[in-house]
Amino acid sequence: MTALLWLRRDLRLHDLPALLAAHEAGGEVLPVFVADPALLASAGTVRLAHLAAALTELDESYDGAVVVRVGRPEEEIPRLVREVGAGSVHVSRETTPYGRERDERTDRALGEVPLVATGTPYAVGPGLVRKADGGSFQVFTPFSRAWREHGWPRPAPLPDGLRWHRGVESSPLPWGAGSDVSCGETSAHARWEEFLEEDLEGYGDGRDRPDLDVTSQMSVHLKYGTIHPRTMLADIAAHPAGRTDGAQRFVTELCWREFYADVLWHRPESAWSDLREDLRGMAYADVDGEAADHVRAWQEGRTGFPFVDAGMRQLLAEGWMHNRVRMVVASFLVKDLHVWWGHGARYFLEHLRDGDIASNNHGWQWVAGTGTDPAPYFRVFNPVTQGERFDPDGAYVRRYVPELAHVQGRAAHQPWTVPDGLAHGYPERIVDHAAERVEALRRYEEAKGSR
Ligand code: FAD
Repeated sequence: MTALLWLRRDLRLHDLPALLAAHEAGGEVLPVFVADPALLASAGTVRLAHLAAALTELDESYDGAVVVRVGRPEEEIPRLVREVGAGSVHVSRETTPYGRERDERTDRALGEVPLVATGTPYAVGPGLVRKADGGSFQVFTPFSRAWREHGWPRPAPLPDGLRWHRGVESSPLPWGAGSDVSCGETSAHARWEEFLEEDLEGYGDGRDRPDLDVTSQMSVHLKYGTIHPRTMLADIAAHPAGRTDGAQRFVTELCWREFYADVLWHRPESAWSDLREDLRGMAYADVDGEAADHVRAWQEGRTGFPFVDAGMRQLLAEGWMHNRVRMVVASFLVKDLHVWWGHGARYFLEHLRDGDIASNNHGWQWVAGTGTDPAPYFRVFNPVTQGERFDPDGAYVRRYVPELAHVQGRAAHQPWTVPDGLAHGYPERIVDHAAERVEALRRYEEAKGSR
C-alpha cells in the first residue's frame, strides 16, 4: 500500500526518519507538499522565493516525484489519501503551536488512516530535555548542559530500494517563483561544506561582527529543513576542528535554536504573549497612533541611527540580518520607540527568509526582557556604541546605507559629528537615545511596581 510522506519543515531527502518510516510501511512512497494559505498569508516575497527554490531542489532530489497541493492540509491530505488509496501518512513531528493544531485537525480528518510522526526538525525533539525532577528549563545555560548530556542520534540512512508513487496530478505554486535564489538540499550542503572549511574554526572570534560575513547563513536551511541539525552536529564531531572553541561555540548557537523550540513546546501561548507575567502590564506606544511614523521609519531604515538603519535595509534587501544587528534593531524598537515586541516580531516574520516562530519570537522576548533571559530588563543597547564596537570601521553601515558612503571609518556611526555627514540625504535621529533609555526604564519599573 502507498504511504504518503507529507513534507513541511523537512524539505530534503537525506537524514529524514519520516521517509524511512514511510518506506518501511512496505509499498510505494508519495511525497507531498501542501501550500497552506494560513501560513503563506504572513510570508513576504523573499520568504516565498526561498520556499519555491527549496521545493524545486526537493523535486530534483526526489526524481520528480513530489506532488504539490494548494489548500487547507486537513482537506488536501485526506483527499490525496483517498485518491491514491494510501494506508498511512508520515510526517516529522511538528512542535509549533500552529503546526500542532494543524496536525491534530488533519489526524482527525484522516479517520482510520494513521498520521505517523517520526523525528522532528531538531537534534533533540522539543520536550525531551528535562530537569532531574522532570520539569522543563526556562534558562539557557542549564538547558544547554542537559541537551549536550542527552546527546542525539546519528543521521538517518537513505532507505534502500525506495519506490515513488507516480502519476498523481500536482498543482502549480500559488505564487510566482521567479527569482535567482538558490535554496534546497544541494545548496544547503554546498554552503555547509564551505562554512566548515572556511569559517568553523574562527567562528567564535568573528561571529559578532556583521561586517565580516563569517557566520554560517545556515538559518534559512534549518528553517526549511533542507539539512538537519543532526547532520551538522555529526559533521562537526568528525571535523578536524570539531573540538576547537569556534566549533563548540557554533554547537552552542545551534542549541539556542533547540532551546527556544523547547520553551515554545512547553509554553505555546508564549509565541504571542509575554513569557514573564510580571511584565505583562507594561505601557507601550500605540503603533496605529502616536508611534506610527516612528515605526515606519524603523521598518524602512530611516531612524537616523546608522547601525539600526543598515540592519533594517539589509532585512528588506536580503531577507536576512546578522544576529548582533537583530538584537540592536529589536532593542531600538522596544526600548527607544517603546513598541511592544510582538509588532517587531511580526514584521521580522514577514521579511526574514529564516523567519521561525520559536527563534524569532523568543529572540524578540529575550531582547525585550519579557522572555527567557534571567537578567536584565535594564539592558538597553546603545545603537551607536554597539555599531562602533561590532562594525569598527563602519563598513557594514556603508554597505547598506549609500547616503553614508562618503563618511570614512567609524564616523559612519555618528555622521552628525562630521561636517558633511548628513549632506547626502541621510536623516536626522528620530529620538534622543539617552532620554528614551530613561523612559524605557521608567516603564519597566512602573510595570513591575503595578503588580
Ligand atoms: P550562525 O551564527 O551561523 O548560527 C548557526 C545557527 O545557530 C543559526 O543558523 C541558527 O539556527 C542558530 N542560532 C544562532 N543564534 C541563534 C539565536 N540567538 N537564537 C536561535 N537560534 C540561533 N533565527 C532564526 O533562525 N529565525 C528567526 O526568525 C530569528 N529571529 C530572530 C529575531 C531576533 C530579534 C533575534 C535577536 C534573533 C533571531 N534569530 C532568528 C536568531 C539569529 O539571529 C539567527 O539564527 C542568525 O542570525 C542566523 O544567521 P546564521 O545562520 O549565519 O547564524
